Amino acid sequence: MKSMMPVVFIGHGSPMNAIDDNAYSRAWKNIAQRIPKPKAIVSFSAHWFTQGTKIMNERQPRTVYDMYGFPRELYEIVYSPPGSPGVAAVAKELISRETKYDNSWGIDHGTWSVLVHMFPQGDVPVFQISIDASAPPQSHYRIGNELKTLRKEGVLLLASGNIVHNLRLVNWSMGSAGFDWAYAFDGYIHENIISKSHRNILEFGELGNPAKLAVPTPDHFYPLLYALGAANDDDECSVFAQSCELGSVSMTSYLWESSK
Ligand code: ZN
Repeated sequence: MKSMMPVVFIGHGSPMNAIDDNAYSRAWKNIAQRIPKPKAIVSFSAHWFTQGTKIMNERQPRTVYDMYGFPRELYEIVYSPPGSPGVAAVAKELISRETKYDNSWGIDHGTWSVLVHMFPQGDVPVFQISIDASAPPQSHYRIGNELKTLRKEGVLLLASGNIVHNLRLVNWSMGSAGFDWAYAFDGYIHENIISKSHRNILEFGELGNPAKLAVPTPDHFYPLLYALGAANDDDECSVFAQSCELGSVSMTSYLWESSK
């Protein structure tokens, strides 16, 4: 019996993954099937990128359709798990920087496009904590670290973004292949995750050009830092869906499980 909940980072990619049965959505299902059922999920989604750190504490958060120009089928998805005001209050206590409750947002597609596959019944309470756009990498990492203790309470920390995410350079003709710089950056992060060299990841900008191209804005990259902060040194780390697509998006996902 494992005593700690795992931590997961999902490269979520296109919102269409919510309705597609593909290698990514199957990998997400697979992750959910191998971990204990959580009591609650805290999600750090790339799509709640705010000024300051906000915490959602509604009893029934709404589904947010924060994507444009997709087929109607996607807007008909209703994923409405209960919220978790109790765990949200504990999280607020644990985070040392200033935070505010904010229920102007809801469960966005960074969260639900993944959870419809992981926990299709929507019976696990979910709330989101926003990504502070103006905070440096270290602050995101620290919040993950401060929330690590929730793992002992059966809470799953879910981070949802993309390690490589440059929509301006998306090239549809590349299908399931990436540019050289996309593989280089994704590979660099992978090496440093496996060797637990988190400092190199926090200082990702020092990689120069591949980092500039892979992370033109940090919204999809920063969720990873929460997951890294919440991971323990002796966790076993597995990689899923290690790949790039459309040239400039990486779908690589990670799971950290307690070895105890
Ligand atoms: Zn996204």
